[in-house]
Amino acid sequence: MPEGEFWNPEVELLSGEEIRSLQLRRLRAVLERCGNSPFYREWFREAGFDPARVSSLDDLRALPFMDKETLRGGDPRRFLTVPLEEVVRLHSSSGTTGQATVVFHTARDIDAWTELVARCMYMTGVRRSDVFQNMMGYGLFTGGLGFHYAAERIGALVIPAGSGNSKRQIQLMRDFGTTVIHVIPSYALYLLDVFRELGLDPRRDTSLRIAFIGAEPHTESLRRRLEEAYGIKAYNSYGLSEMSGPGVAFECPFQEGMHVGEDSFILEAIDPEPLEPAPAAEGGERARTLHREGMPLLRYRTHDLARVFPEPCRCGRAHRRISRIKGRTDDMFIVKGVNVFPMQVERVLLGILGVGSNYRIVLETVDNRDEMRVQVEVSGDLWHGEVKELSQLRRRIAQELRNEILVTPVVELVEPGSLPAGEGKAVRVVDMRDHARGE
Ligand code: AMP
Ligand code: ZN
Repeated sequence: MPEGEFWNPEVELLSGEEIRSLQLRRLRAVLERCGNSPFYREWFREAGFDPARVSSLDDLRALPFMDKETLRGGDPRRFLTVPLEEVVRLHSSSGTTGQATVVFHTARDIDAWTELVARCMYMTGVRRSDVFQNMMGYGLFTGGLGFHYAAERIGALVIPAGSGNSKRQIQLMRDFGTTVIHVIPSYALYLLDVFRELGLDPRRDTSLRIAFIGAEPHTESLRRRLEEAYGIKAYNSYGLSEMSGPGVAFECPFQEGMHVGEDSFILEAIDPEPLEPAPAAEGGERARTLHREGMPLLRYRTHDLARVFPEPCRCGRAHRRISRIKGRTDDMFIVKGVNVFPMQVERVLLGILGVGSNYRIVLETVDNRDEMRVQVEVSGDLWHGEVKELSQLRRRIAQELRNEILVTPVVELVEPGSLPAGEGKAVRVVDMRDHARGE
């Protein structure tokens, strides 16, 4: 490996054993601070867990898992291990309105996260001379600011373009010689159509060389297609807001799985059914413990399924790698980069007069873009009534769904009794998108 390939060689070149001992040291410091948090005091007490007696990473297993539900149940300040005055920022996960899972950060947390993402970007070859266009949503979503600060720390020129506005994105790339982008993979695919419409070819008419693609599941063949069409290397970037955001796992130049930043996260492979540790090489769910100063999370279930590659990588880093995300162990789905739970849709529908007893969510790839279709049975009276009323109902459903899930679906009203009535658990989501079919 040529010199200068590492942002922070001291951390990146730790051996497996050194990583484990660093993890234990940091874990013990976090557990000590957890005593300041009303939530953790209670959590430990209920589990009969004495943080002072933790002498190995395995001792963590005496604690129950946490997940989004744990975070949602009440005031998020109860997780804080520092006074609120120390908190300088909050973020939340994409898509949620009513029940956002909020994460607080201290200045040191932001700094550590920035270092982590900078390290990931640098690993793939981003340097001071690069022009980085961040095409992710800014705001509460972590993909905007997380990458923004990291690229600035490297010293690249950052264009905080935000999401959407495709023609302007292309204009910016051409005006300022963008070399690196951060983009949702399905949007990158769609953007190719816009290039074509404008009579442009990204290979010829831009200076792009690297893309970071993440925030939603995608396939190897989609990656290859983007690499080919844009003439770039596209690196898979995985993260979740609860674990601060991007930087949790990231591909190195070898593109054989994503390195987990094991100095920040303790990775556990679990078998969701029954909830037990799983052999690493099998496709289990991942749980993580994060040493965050303000709001640490212990044994947090991501609900994301992936395999672990335990062997060291050709790049020289011992930080273990995970495969691309194969699916989830809950019913959350991601559409246009936004997380959606079927329950959110159901709640909206149940609150609208004229909606019948059954509904179904169909996800498709249309013109290279995600489309979400919500098929809704209407009540008998309405179905045989005025057309005007039906179209009003359709508009209202679309609008209320948009307010709740932040994605505008295509609403299709159907005859009462026409949707398949499930025997047992209803199949609410039919995913026919390319990546869901493994293409
Ligand atoms: P958020 O908290 O809004 O950032 O959403 C996090 C979720 O997005 C994760 O739990 C994953 O399900 C999904 N996700 C993020 N990055 C990727 C990726 N590279 N591949 C597949 N899914 C991803
Ligand atoms: Zn590697």
